[in-house]
Amino acid sequence: MSTSDLPNPPATDFVRELVRHDGAQGTFGGRVQTRFPPEPNGYLHIGHAKAICIDFGLAAEFGGRCNLRLDDTNPETESEAFVRGIVEDLAWLGFAPPEPILYASDYFEQIYQWAEHLIERGLAYVDDQDGDTISAQRGGYGKPGVESPYRNRSAEENLDLFRRMRAGEFADGSRVLRAKIDMQHENMQLRDPVMYRIRRSHHFRTGDQWSIYPTYDWAHGQSDAIEGVTHSLCTLEFDSHRPLYDWYLEQLPLPGDKPRQTEFARLELTHTVTSKRKLAALVAEGTVDGWDDPRLPTLRGLRRRGYPASAIRDFCSYIGVSRTNSRHDIELLEYFVRTELNRTALRRMVVLRPIRLVIDNWPTNADGTPVVEWCEVTNNPENPADGVRLVPFTGELFIEQEDFSENPPPQFFRLAPGREVRLRAAFFVKYASHHTDSSGAVTEVHCTYDPETRGGNAPDGRKVKTTLHWVSAAHAVDVRAALYDRLFTTKAPGDATGDPFDELNPASLELLTDCKAEPIIGDTPSGTVVQFERLGYFAHDPRTPLLFHRTVGLRDEWANIQKRSAK
Ligand code: ATP
Ligand code: MG
Repeated sequence: MSTSDLPNPPATDFVRELVRHDGAQGTFGGRVQTRFPPEPNGYLHIGHAKAICIDFGLAAEFGGRCNLRLDDTNPETESEAFVRGIVEDLAWLGFAPPEPILYASDYFEQIYQWAEHLIERGLAYVDDQDGDTISAQRGGYGKPGVESPYRNRSAEENLDLFRRMRAGEFADGSRVLRAKIDMQHENMQLRDPVMYRIRRSHHFRTGDQWSIYPTYDWAHGQSDAIEGVTHSLCTLEFDSHRPLYDWYLEQLPLPGDKPRQTEFARLELTHTVTSKRKLAALVAEGTVDGWDDPRLPTLRGLRRRGYPASAIRDFCSYIGVSRTNSRHDIELLEYFVRTELNRTALRRMVVLRPIRLVIDNWPTNADGTPVVEWCEVTNNPENPADGVRLVPFTGELFIEQEDFSENPPPQFFRLAPGREVRLRAAFFVKYASHHTDSSGAVTEVHCTYDPETRGGNAPDGRKVKTTLHWVSAAHAVDVRAALYDRLFTTKAPGDATGDPFDELNPASLELLTDCKAEPIIGDTPSGTVVQFERLGYFAHDPRTPLLFHRTVGLRDEWANIQKRSAK
């Protein structure tokens, strides 16, 4: 299947239309500025890739700017290491944010001054109640809110208390600063939301300078305004926060235009989770082997698995930007990965589960050693410029266990008693006999070869049904291969039961430790992907030599899904 088999991707979307409309109206003086605002409390995942492609993509398309701004307002869980990881993953994905990298913490002083501004105007107050009381008083839909007994403190008293909160005079959690909006507002976000909490936490950038930290809602729009962001794009769950985003900005003496928030749908994929919190739990519980475990949809996991950055970008542009939450088939992402790798990956012969194949009539040299034939094999049929290589062939080879059957079932066209098959780019071989061990398992297959079929074609025109890959036993390099299955057994983990961790696939990793590869495999640069012929694409681990991760199989499952849904 080629991309032309897919329905056409959308030519435009509601966000691009909005930006175009703003441009035509002269809103924001024709400027376009976005930002990508990750919180440095974990690594980026495929969902972030969608946001990155939208934020950076829009800025590039409209000649604007996109800042990388770390949303570092929760010091307990954030770190410099996560910042470095985010910058690294962004660069790998192909995006270079303008220097310098920005942080919400760069604006803590200005945001604090703006809080005093609200207090002075009677629009914010210090509440001495604890968090549970405050949430209970918020009420709910159809359930009235209850005003705090501290709501009507004077501006002077509030200012004094707020300054003392900053100075560290009060215990953590003992007081908060709240916006004074409307405890009966139909939108819960506007029922006097919390702006500051007291937390004597060490911040990785500001150290122990602050004992109060702003909430996301109070920091985000203000940071946007300070930077001159025009289009503040975020995911749909912030839809109900937009009136609060606007309310805060409307009360403040902004240095420029008021930025505008627009929401788009989160990216979710079948059989996995795209929430940092859930990914962090998988890592913390040791369910996976770190943030770069190839089973995770983190960018570092996908990179280690061998997903090309360009395939991820192509996928993101194909799914586009919409306002409807939906879960995409992971097979669609794999389709883009396979399409790219089919074009670029060199082909290699590797046997994952070997059995020995002995050629009884193979010739020996005068000194009694077996003859070695060097067979010319194409490196990549999709790209002739990749040339050919010579692969050694001798009288003892490895083939896949599953390529031989003692009692072949119908439709089994590989090697079996009485059968002849082609060994790729080498010779036709014909079954002679086989050995089994005490348990009945096949340990060795014997064949005879036809010297007339060198290169893999019979001069008499006779045909065989199957071509097998093989590796010369005397030249084989031992490699390990990690085969992956879905991390979760269900399509929408946790949707039905509430707990995705009940739906983990216990067999998501199978490590094969006795694989046999042709000698050139040792030259595969770490981190690159080759195709193991007939088996799939495999990425050479970036750190462990001769460990290969199966990136994707060869079969296009997305095509089958489409065929099924068309019926
Ligand atoms: P999570 O919900 O995974 O914990 P988050 O929203 O807390 O993620 P942030 O680091 O705050 O993570 O996200 C940075 C940006 O990436 C935000 O603008 C957010 O809307 C966007 N983003 C996060 N997850 C997704 C997703 N699954 N699809 C699209 N955009 C996302
Ligand atoms: Mg967030």
